[in-house]
Amino acid sequence: MIEVDGSIGEGGGQILHTALALSMLTAQAIRIRNIRARRRRPGLQRQHLAAVNAAAEISSAKVKGAELGSSTLKFSPSAITPGQYTFSIGSAGSTSLVLQTVLPALISAEEPSTVFIEGGTHNPMAPPFEFLQQSFIPLLSRMGPQLSPVLERPGFYPAGGGRFKIHISPAERLLPLDLRERGEIKSVNAQALIAGLDRSIAQREIKIIRRELELSEEQATVRELGSKFGPGNVVLVSVSSAALTAVFTGFGEKHVRAETVAAGVCAQANAYLRSAAAVDRLLADQLLLPFALAGSGSFSTLEPSSHTRTNIEIIRLFLDIDIRAEERPDGCWELSFNRAEK
Ligand code: ATP
Repeated sequence: MIEVDGSIGEGGGQILHTALALSMLTAQAIRIRNIRARRRRPGLQRQHLAAVNAAAEISSAKVKGAELGSSTLKFSPSAITPGQYTFSIGSAGSTSLVLQTVLPALISAEEPSTVFIEGGTHNPMAPPFEFLQQSFIPLLSRMGPQLSPVLERPGFYPAGGGRFKIHISPAERLLPLDLRERGEIKSVNAQALIAGLDRSIAQREIKIIRRELELSEEQATVRELGSKFGPGNVVLVSVSSAALTAVFTGFGEKHVRAETVAAGVCAQANAYLRSAAAVDRLLADQLLLPFALAGSGSFSTLEPSSHTRTNIEIIRLFLDIDIRAEERPDGCWELSFNRAEK
């Protein structure tokens, strides 16, 4: 049984998701205490419970403590069963964080799977669907598994009601990637999504983004989704380089001006563009586990966040992997992965 302390470092839901994924992959039981101890409402919330239940379903796990508010969980997985699954969060909880929990096991399974996840597809503090589709999934596909995500219905926080589908063809092993160099920037594009709210909100966001990132009219557009999907507003900036596509997101919120949302996403994109890093901070979080499973590879990124450092600590509990984070002379950080020799 591996003991996981959910209060270390960032002390949030990521510890739970990474620990569940690795428990299934390494077929080891875990006990997590102090779940989300550093969050305002600690313990398992509906979204985290959905991740636990999804993990239990694909691995026929024995589970104790899977209740709302619970701060301790015991999870003993059996074999992974690929197949067709529908996981419904029953709130606007993030669909991508449920995917983050089950994907590592399903890309390593014996057979393909098709997974439908219902809930929020565009939630603050979680990867929006476009981040998965344009940034993370293409990189994971380059490591071997074939993955095709389709957004069937957007679901914005707090109403939710979204749904996406992903077909997963596993790979026998993950191939390492070398993402140390970003290479030439090929394109920068922005999109303001708007549903059930005044189009002028998205137009004001696009105006700021065009000015701040020096984009043409074709590069920065408004996309109106049906009002039945609203209310919702998200701005996305995609930066494609020779190495990969990075996606930065700003979430429209009540009482926050459209200009402020747009300025926030531009600040993220500009910090990345000014650096030489290939991988942005949020993508770094998602890449840690696949790179650790591949057993080698490296990427350049911005200074690792507390999220990233915490995730590294959790990975080290399960895998015999040397993960080094070193600052480079150009101000970027390089994360390198080396499976420890037996
Ligand atoms: P909690 O409720 O405890 O905050 P959580 O499930 O939100 O739980 P976190 O520990 O905050 O867990 O982790 C959120 C995850 O979402 C991290 O992997 C982070 O990198 C990712 N993430 C957050 N915002 C974005 C974004 N805009 N784009 C891509 N990834 C994101």
